[in-house]
Amino acid sequence: MRKMTEIIQSHINGTNQASDGDYIEKHYPATGEVIAKVEIASDEVLNMAVAAASAAQKQWAQYSGQERGQILIKAALALRQANAELARLEVQDVGKVYSEAESGDVPSGADALEFFGAAIMTYGGIQHQWRDAIGYSRRVPLGVCAGIGAWNYPAQIALWKSAPALAMGNAFILKPSEMTPLVAMRIAAIMEDAGLPKGLLNIIHGDHRIGKAICEHAGIAKISLTGGVETGKKIMAQAASSLKRVTLELGGKAPLIICADADLDKAAEIAMSANFYTAGEVCSNATRVFVHRSIAKDLLELMVARTSSLKVGDPMAEDVDIGALISEAHLGKVMRMIQQGVDEGAHLACGGNRVHPQGFEGGYFIEPTILSACQDAMRVVREEIFGPVMSVLIFDDDHEAITRANATHFGLGAGLITKDLARAHRMSAQLEAGNVWVNSYNIIPPDLPFGGAKSSGFGRESSLYALEAYSDVKATYIALD
Ligand code: NAD
Repeated sequence: MRKMTEIIQSHINGTNQASDGDYIEKHYPATGEVIAKVEIASDEVLNMAVAAASAAQKQWAQYSGQERGQILIKAALALRQANAELARLEVQDVGKVYSEAESGDVPSGADALEFFGAAIMTYGGIQHQWRDAIGYSRRVPLGVCAGIGAWNYPAQIALWKSAPALAMGNAFILKPSEMTPLVAMRIAAIMEDAGLPKGLLNIIHGDHRIGKAICEHAGIAKISLTGGVETGKKIMAQAASSLKRVTLELGGKAPLIICADADLDKAAEIAMSANFYTAGEVCSNATRVFVHRSIAKDLLELMVARTSSLKVGDPMAEDVDIGALISEAHLGKVMRMIQQGVDEGAHLACGGNRVHPQGFEGGYFIEPTILSACQDAMRVVREEIFGPVMSVLIFDDDHEAITRANATHFGLGAGLITKDLARAHRMSAQLEAGNVWVNSYNIIPPDLPFGGAKSSGFGRESSLYALEAYSDVKATYIALD
């Protein structure tokens, strides 16, 4: 772990750029210690980033898809070689357990780079023909695109946004969350060392103030946000002044429907991972677990027994299952939500306490928590908590489960556990969500689109749809007579 307080500056055109403005303290969530000071980029620094990105993009757009793809695939390989180092930085950023960062977040970023590097080599437009003319439409880059990130998956967010943008021939400016500034800096440096021309991936640090300036900057063509619903609304409004395109990856309150025919072992494993992975700080987590009445008692007993044995503590320790939450303030919010659930009549089946592991007494730890006997109207069931808190609800038939699962303004993910194939297809078509997982949860291969419906946002990350989102269509008509 870092011992000295590092100064984190914005990264522009391949070098770190000082800003004479204020700074934000970066805490290590597992100890609460300040490990870095993050300089808030000034408007001048943002202007420098846009100018560098704009100049680099003009050159980059001239490269063929194959040339760009080769560079991105080489960068993906360099990131894989640095996987352990990046995973350690991700732990310092987020406080999540190392094994998750090392096997999940960081490789999923390299996967994206590799996928888009390969995809761009064959990605193109459509040909048209008429009696006396031919035409073609082709995909063209937008110019300088920007990403604004949440704090829960900083490596993945950096690459899920920048990889399709860069593949398509754009330059990119990333503003990571002010709480997780570390890993993206290293990613940019590694990619540049691997051959990505300087100026194509710039990192700007700061909070909502520089975020707003990014949204309003006339030199930026598109914003992709990962964040909360209220932030999404603000960003859309801010981006309107310059008519920017917007992709919004927002919050969720996903349902997981566990049917009567589900295998209990498997159902418990999926429900727990869909609630406690990354200490529950996952936007698509299935925090409303609807269980068929006939299996509810047995499944709850199984989940309580297993959840109570999960170890909370040092994120770097191999035997730890659950790391820290991102901040003291967030921990307070999660604890208040649990109390609110109990006050509204939910039963605290397990967990619910703050934990102070030995040697990590100042960290932001909480026991994984199951609330049973929940009702749809409770606040814990309606609102996103973004912590390790599962709400268990009981249903009697499929129609009821679907109706209740869809009775939310969110629509990011949804899950279904059943052995009945026809039911799986029927119910997954009825669930109002951008992503539905059957007999699994939160699996997102790079070629599968990911994104929300309803208030969970619009636009897609991963897959060829992301290349669409970072490009425009240009049509050419050629008369032949
Ligand atoms: P947040 O909305 O508070 O902040 C997200 C980012 O937006 C940060 O970088 C922040 O500095 C910036 N920001 C805030 N206000 C801004 C403004 N007015 N203009 C420009 N930028 C602004 O979210 P968070 O607390 O960092 O992350 C948690 C939220 O993110 C949860 O709601 C979670 O569901 C959501 N999330 C969604 C996805 C997804 O893919 N759908 C993934 C991860 C997290």
